[in-house]
Amino acid sequence: MKSRCLSNLMRIDLCAFAAIFFLLLSFAHAANAQRLSTNVIPTHYSLDFMPDLKTATFSGNEVIDVNIKEPTNTITLNANELKFESVGVIYQHDEQKGSVSFDTDKEQATLTFPNTIPAGDATLRIHFTGILNNKLRGFYLSKTDRRSYAVTQFESTDARRAFPCFDEPAFKATFQVKLTIDKDDTAISNTPIERDVDGAGDWLPDGKHHTVTFETTPKMSTYLVVFVVGDFQCTSGEQDGVKLRVCATPDKVKLTPFALDVAKFALHYYDNYFGIHFPLKKLDFIGIPDFEAGAMENFGAITFRETDLLLDPKAATFRAQRNATLAIVHEMAHQWFGDLVTMQWWDNIWLNEGFATWMENKCTGAMHPDWNIPQFVAADEQRTLNVDAQPTTRAIRASADTPDEIEQMFDFIAYNKAGAMLLMVENYLGEETFRKGVHAYLAAHEYGNATAEDFWNAQTEVSHKPVDKIMESMVAQPGAPILEFGAPAAGQVSVAQSRFFLSPGTKPDPAQRWMLPACFKAGATGQVCQVLTPSSTSLAVPASKIFFANAGGKGYYRSAYAPDQYTALVAHVETGLTPAERISLTGDEWAQVRANKAPVGDYLNLVAALSSDPSEDVLANAVDNVSIITDTVASTPQERDALAAWIRRTFLPVYTRLGNAAENGTSNQRDLLAYLFGVLAGGGKDANLQAQARSVADRYLADPASVDPTFGQTALGIAAKNGDSALFDKLEKIYETSSDPELQEVALRELVMFKNPDLLERALEYSVSSKVRNQDSAIQFNLAMRIPENRDQAWKFIKTHWDQVKTEFTPEMGSYFVAGTANFCSVEARDDVKDFFASHPVPATSSYVRHALEHIDGCIELRKLQEPNLRQWLAAQPQ
Ligand SMILES: [Zn+2]
Repeated sequence: MKSRCLSNLMRIDLCAFAAIFFLLLSFAHAANAQRLSTNVIPTHYSLDFMPDLKTATFSGNEVIDVNIKEPTNTITLNANELKFESVGVIYQHDEQKGSVSFDTDKEQATLTFPNTIPAGDATLRIHFTGILNNKLRGFYLSKTDRRSYAVTQFESTDARRAFPCFDEPAFKATFQVKLTIDKDDTAISNTPIERDVDGAGDWLPDGKHHTVTFETTPKMSTYLVVFVVGDFQCTSGEQDGVKLRVCATPDKVKLTPFALDVAKFALHYYDNYFGIHFPLKKLDFIGIPDFEAGAMENFGAITFRETDLLLDPKAATFRAQRNATLAIVHEMAHQWFGDLVTMQWWDNIWLNEGFATWMENKCTGAMHPDWNIPQFVAADEQRTLNVDAQPTTRAIRASADTPDEIEQMFDFIAYNKAGAMLLMVENYLGEETFRKGVHAYLAAHEYGNATAEDFWNAQTEVSHKPVDKIMESMVAQPGAPILEFGAPAAGQVSVAQSRFFLSPGTKPDPAQRWMLPACFKAGATGQVCQVLTPSSTSLAVPASKIFFANAGGKGYYRSAYAPDQYTALVAHVETGLTPAERISLTGDEWAQVRANKAPVGDYLNLVAALSSDPSEDVLANAVDNVSIITDTVASTPQERDALAAWIRRTFLPVYTRLGNAAENGTSNQRDLLAYLFGVLAGGGKDANLQAQARSVADRYLADPASVDPTFGQTALGIAAKNGDSALFDKLEKIYETSSDPELQEVALRELVMFKNPDLLERALEYSVSSKVRNQDSAIQFNLAMRIPENRDQAWKFIKTHWDQVKTEFTPEMGSYFVAGTANFCSVEARDDVKDFFASHPVPATSSYVRHALEHIDGCIELRKLQEPNLRQWLAAQPQ
């Protein structure tokens, strides 16, 4: 699964806030409380479905071949919101009917038979009915204004909503799916169609239906089964002998060629990288109108939120293209790492998701060397480190037994931190050695299940380096260390490690230490890595003009330098460090400000030193924290105006110089220009550029191809903030009528940016109306709460319309909504948020509430400690 991040919309760490943390201490309860017995092992499922899209119901007949270890007369499997019509078991030519009892809390059904079933092979026959729900999970209904679609989303524990099954990843079996559907509809599943005949069933033409039977799958887990029904249309291609199709609703099929090109590249790349040919005959990619996550890696048929798959490269922003590419290749990596070899249990989902997150960057970087993926990765790592520097973070390794606990495993730690750890290990071992370890792991466990230990033992064996100890140290402990270096002398540098917290009030436990590779920069692009152990007090360092302790920005740790070394680094920041290293250094300095070890002015001086940086990622990573200073450290209009003047003085000359050159420049140059435009018109309050924003936005909306899309969308963001009802109406119309998913999404998101209170109220009301999909509602509130001018009104709306607001959340989306409150920065607001959620709990978000409160406290502390420093620094600036 690819978690949903909104980075294509604005450069905000919504993921950092939204996909976060669950303190897992509350999970102490009887181990394996919901696990099935291993006495009955499924080997094959024949699944026969007849969905009725008009009544939103379905009926199913299934036959499950099982192997029984010990004689028994009861068999327990998973089922949720299914009605059993009949059950039977066949063994040794005997057949008996059974009865069913349910444990709804455990989502289990127990079949009881009058006579004991002997050990050996047997066959279960179950006839059942169910509903096509509107919860975006299980077998569910997705709607457009034209028609309905029946689609599935099973990860983690929702296959049991579609058919009774042994719904645990280690119960791998083969599946044959058969769907009886309306004669004009099509169906897609994991494998190619084996036969397609008229009628309901294989032999009864009725003029209304046809029955599609798919080939039997290889051995796989239940959560990877998929079937979709509707009038999807596809664009086809082929790569390495595998048939590829990208499918969408008919109005969007024109937006499928982009993804097909990505898929072709990635399939060949992965065939080579893994050294194992793609294991199925075909691979489909399907854009679904209602989809909760970003995408889902069902074996052989990947499903997507439309914005993560369907776009026109001529009209789409660079960011949208990058995000869709990352999502597509992420899911494709899972076809091997996750689908072919699957984790034994959900407590190891971090290895799946961390691997796919690391690999999506690697594959996209190979496909588009000009997209500066290493910088993108380094910037992401800064956000991850900051989130992991809060007391409420968790260790990568955690236990999970119930569906709620499993759901909470798919968080920022599992994706971003685990991905960052794998990048660090790969950098230490070398790309080819690491690749051989990945191959050895996959080859040893294909069509089976494996654990994190299997992975790091394979890496340790191939590399003869202590990967097992490093990864164990990284997954078992929450947080990340800061490495405090002395001045290098005689080829050695002293080092002390301790857990890093953003808040100076939180003291680390001195016993907490890590084992990890620290890689020092040597020459322009070289590095020398040393393993830091819990007892290390010094490390050997290469001779170098400057001392930089995180080569390539690939180490998952913070660094602090002695004053002379830091001064030398800042002096050589543009000439001595790569862009990714500049991002890493900036992040370390910001962390020092947050921890009150450096004044905020030092950070602003570093930003000024980077003002002419040619990399959009470097600049954006640096300037994003200036927005935090403007929005939170500065508390008076005078301070904000002085900061705006500094932004104009620092960046207007760069913007003017870039202006003419960027028109025909690289995507990075165009992105940089658009970014600076946003900085100057937004935080810099440049009146000329603000006026220009509206005319650029109007041109963009009238004809998106007439303006560079990134520039057009940035201008639209500025124009919306200051916009009138005419612009509001225009955006609402685009959202409701456009067939371009990116443009639709942008139009919707901008509605909550309007500062005019009447228009903002309209936007909030619209967010809870039937016009806005459930997959988007909570995100609208999260975004409104990010805008300082809109925050109070949005919060008031939420509180006064609570009954209406809460019906809009699907299970995963409640967290986005709660996370929005983390943007407050006062004691009164913190207490209000705390009181409100105490009396109005949102399911499965208690730890998000704790994190939001902690974030507000952090903001209050930052302002208290750094505002005097800011005043002093501003007073010393030229006017
Ligand atoms: Zn994933």
